[in-house]
Amino acid sequence: MKHLNNIVTNFQESIFSTMTKLAVENQAINLSQGFPDFDGPSWVIELAAKALRDSKNQYAPSFGILPLRSAIAANYKRFYNLDYDPMNEVLVTNGATEAIYCTIMALVNPGDEVVVFEPFYDSYLASLQLARAKVIPVTLNAPDFTYKVEELNKAINKKTKLLIINNPHNPTGKIFTKAEMILLAELAVANDFYILSDEVYEFLTFEQAHIPTATYDNLKERTVTISSTGKSFGLTGWKIGWALGHSDIIKTIHNVHQFTTFCVAHPLQVAMAQALLNMDDYLIDFKKSYLGKRNLLVKGLNEAGFNVLNPAGTYFAMALLPDGKNDIDYCQWLIKEKKVATIPTSAFYIKSDEGSRMIRFCFAKTDETLNAALKNLSHF
Ligand code: PMP
Ligand code: GLN
Repeated sequence: MKHLNNIVTNFQESIFSTMTKLAVENQAINLSQGFPDFDGPSWVIELAAKALRDSKNQYAPSFGILPLRSAIAANYKRFYNLDYDPMNEVLVTNGATEAIYCTIMALVNPGDEVVVFEPFYDSYLASLQLARAKVIPVTLNAPDFTYKVEELNKAINKKTKLLIINNPHNPTGKIFTKAEMILLAELAVANDFYILSDEVYEFLTFEQAHIPTATYDNLKERTVTISSTGKSFGLTGWKIGWALGHSDIIKTIHNVHQFTTFCVAHPLQVAMAQALLNMDDYLIDFKKSYLGKRNLLVKGLNEAGFNVLNPAGTYFAMALLPDGKNDIDYCQWLIKEKKVATIPTSAFYIKSDEGSRMIRFCFAKTDETLNAALKNLSHF
């Protein structure tokens, strides 16, 4: 038989699937993969149930239903004072993951240079490899996960086609500073590259409001902003995401989406269109609840002797391991001996070996789950 596609056959199983499987096998408390162990808001689920009963069960338009595109655009105006035309600057996708894939496919030709901050969400690398991009990693260094200006300057040049940023950042919980963003903006203009800005944790910021990349001077026209409702509504299984940007770019991203999935689950779009326009009260409780969870986990882990790096955003916290420990062995030991599953962070790096000295905890869990995990971890 002839060879299969060797880029694809070389892909490893996603670390999220691996660790969740190990958690189940070892009957461990799962603080690895990022998803809530509680249901999303019942009022949103009711909206979807109604849409199912109201016969919204055939294909949706490929760009997404107009009420959802309009609701997304209205929220960017309301929250961030950003103007996007729902007719041609908003595309609804199957989660942020599909938006990331389609954006990379739409922007990158084989051999194009793409700068990506590591540690990174695992789908970036796979999509870049499928696009046959030349991947240039820039490391966000622990403990504060700032980039080194010299390293960034070295990575970027006139051939840079795209830079990928995730803000707030998974797995570190970092929020990029204004100074870091302004330098990126200057480099983007000087070198004329696009930015894919993955902002799925936009509402999970604890001490400061989220600032979208597209709000920085000269960045809106060259930035594709990607987000989804998975985190904000605790409905990761719905996979409602989007890409926003200049109409020419969105049209090209849609060309990929059209022949990848064509459209997104229709009844869930109907529900989300309404939910997005009525999320203000919900967001207040959402943020309060996650702030409580972050504080509970970070305090408990510190008391248990972990060296936790307090996250400014997302629902993840990183812990630095004691000298001489390795992330993969440590995660195995935690699962087997302490019955708590976490993520070894070396999976998110391709250049630096810093990841092998850290593990990631997810706190999108009930307080009961977090307390049970902390109890298991408290006896070293
Ligand atoms: N980007 C980042 C940084 C993520 O952590 C995740 C995942 N959970 C995604 C994108 C994917 O989002 P979605 O589930 O909407 O595809
Ligand atoms: N983004 C989630 C995490 O970081 C997982 C998403 C997935 O399982 N693909 O854990």
